[in-house]
Amino acid sequence: MSQQILKVGSLSAARGEKVFGVNEFLVHGQPYRLPMWLINGTEGGPSLVVTAGVHAAEYASIAAALELGRGLEPHTLRGRVIVVPVIDMPAFTARSIYICPLDGKNPNRVFPGNPNGTASEQIADWVFRNVISQAEYYVDLHGGDLNEALVPFTIFFRTGNKGVDETSLEMAKVFGIHFLVCSETPGSTFCAASRAGIPSILAESGGQGIWTPEHVADHTRGLNRLMRHLGMISGGAPQPAPLTLLERFLWLRSEHTALWYPAIAVNDKVKTGQNLGCVKDYEGRVLQTAISPADGVVLFIVTSLAINQTDPLLAVGA
Ligand SMILES: [Zn+2]
Repeated sequence: MSQQILKVGSLSAARGEKVFGVNEFLVHGQPYRLPMWLINGTEGGPSLVVTAGVHAAEYASIAAALELGRGLEPHTLRGRVIVVPVIDMPAFTARSIYICPLDGKNPNRVFPGNPNGTASEQIADWVFRNVISQAEYYVDLHGGDLNEALVPFTIFFRTGNKGVDETSLEMAKVFGIHFLVCSETPGSTFCAASRAGIPSILAESGGQGIWTPEHVADHTRGLNRLMRHLGMISGGAPQPAPLTLLERFLWLRSEHTALWYPAIAVNDKVKTGQNLGCVKDYEGRVLQTAISPADGVVLFIVTSLAINQTDPLLAVGA
């Protein structure tokens, strides 16, 4: 992006300026309104894009993006930051789990989007072209959804492009959350951005509709550490954090629309072949037993008794 003017859609911020505004664009002919901050530092430096609310009920991540947008000032910033706190606005007002109510799609499976596609695909296309593609570094903030508990973790993706992959891993390490997961989620923000040559991470903290100060701080602290690492704000290089790198992200899914009885908790260490919980019918008959596919740690669990066919049950990092 230009060193002097930071521009997204109809909004622009000159060098040393901070702008909050709403970009409006058409999705299937209807106006779609997307709030965002453009913060153009007094001094030149890297371009960082931070998004949240791709999953709009992951509140700790949204609260953290709002805190960043409200708090960051151009006179303390070297470089440029774009913050979009809630990408899926219809899902935010609807308190929707996983999906955008406009088309029933999971927005984190449709990036980089399609200008002629469904609503989620059109929104993803606008965000990818106008916001994410301006990044030299990209962070997408998430957490457990309304029906999910998780232990905080950071995901990155190895594209095969050595330079991009090394920087993504370094960003994930610097972010400072204990568990790092190397994984590809096709259609996700960070994988699409990584494939486009933009080093990217996805950070997860919080869940079940709860946004404690500690969970919000996992995200805000990580962003602060990353911006210090990149020399965008003062404070010096952050202390290295103790980390565990997990090379596999193994999801178990329900084969039935029924009831889910987990037998473990997040952050539990599990063994290959261990019983992690059961899907049962109303009379209590076991329809499916969730068996651990590896030795590893439970990263997230769906905590709702209600479960639908193909829904995730939990994930093991190994
Ligand atoms: Zn999410």
